[in-house]
Amino acid sequence: MKTVLITGTNRGIGFEFVRQYALDKWRVIACCRNPLSANALNRLAAQYPDQISIYPLDVANHSQIEQLAQTLAHGTIDLLINNAGVYPSKSGDAFRMTDYDAWAHTFAVNTMAPLKMAEAFLQPIARSSLKTIITLTSKMGSIADNRGGGSYIYRSSKAGVNIVMKSLSIDLSSKQITTVLLHPGWVRTDMGGPNGLISTEQSVTGMRRVISNLKFEDSGKFYAFDGQMVPW
Ligand code: NDP
Repeated sequence: MKTVLITGTNRGIGFEFVRQYALDKWRVIACCRNPLSANALNRLAAQYPDQISIYPLDVANHSQIEQLAQTLAHGTIDLLINNAGVYPSKSGDAFRMTDYDAWAHTFAVNTMAPLKMAEAFLQPIARSSLKTIITLTSKMGSIADNRGGGSYIYRSSKAGVNIVMKSLSIDLSSKQITTVLLHPGWVRTDMGGPNGLISTEQSVTGMRRVISNLKFEDSGKFYAFDGQMVPW
């Protein structure tokens, strides 16, 4: 049985990743900030008691990440999915309205946490057979794709995680770890809003297909959910 660790699983894309991997008979380590109030996730875990385990994890809290890594130190993690993310309020993410505290928090969650997760869980990942780290980024972090301007905080946090993961892919190549960035599409979630173009099911089905076709040579690449490469 393969094992996946996913962050931010109580709703949205993270929840759908848990559902689909559990359905596919993976062991799922489902992390979220507040397991006690994660009702849908608890119901899902009750349907798959041998596969889904839920752990509390605020990815901005490095000591909590280290604590979880200690708890799981002797196992294997085939696939780490850095999914948790925040989108700051639009009113604080425009020219002359920038909320600098929100920027620091967004960076902690979207940019720094994925690296901290990779550092903390390196050994269980390195001893697995798949050895894969996926980070959910966004086309909004693509410099080539930026025609709309604005969104300083969100765009920079995702452009930042892109370069962080690119460096990580080079640093971990000696361990044969595959590190890939994924854009999930514009998805109907709390973050994506009701006008998103695709459902979480479509997005995650596409991303799982991309993940299952990855080879080590793909490490350091930036793909969309439909398998298209995204320009940096
Ligand atoms: P949602 O806003 O629906 O869900 C975000 C998830 O991240 C929630 O589970 C939330 O938990 C969790 N989260 C936020 N902050 C933290 C934290 N500090 N520690 C742990 N978990 C946290 O977003 P989506 O599902 O739409 O997005 C998932 C990923 O996909 C994100 O990285 C996002 O940037 C990216 N993405 C989404 C797009 C879209 O169209 N939806 C487009 C491009 C990229 P809680 O309930 O506790 O807040």
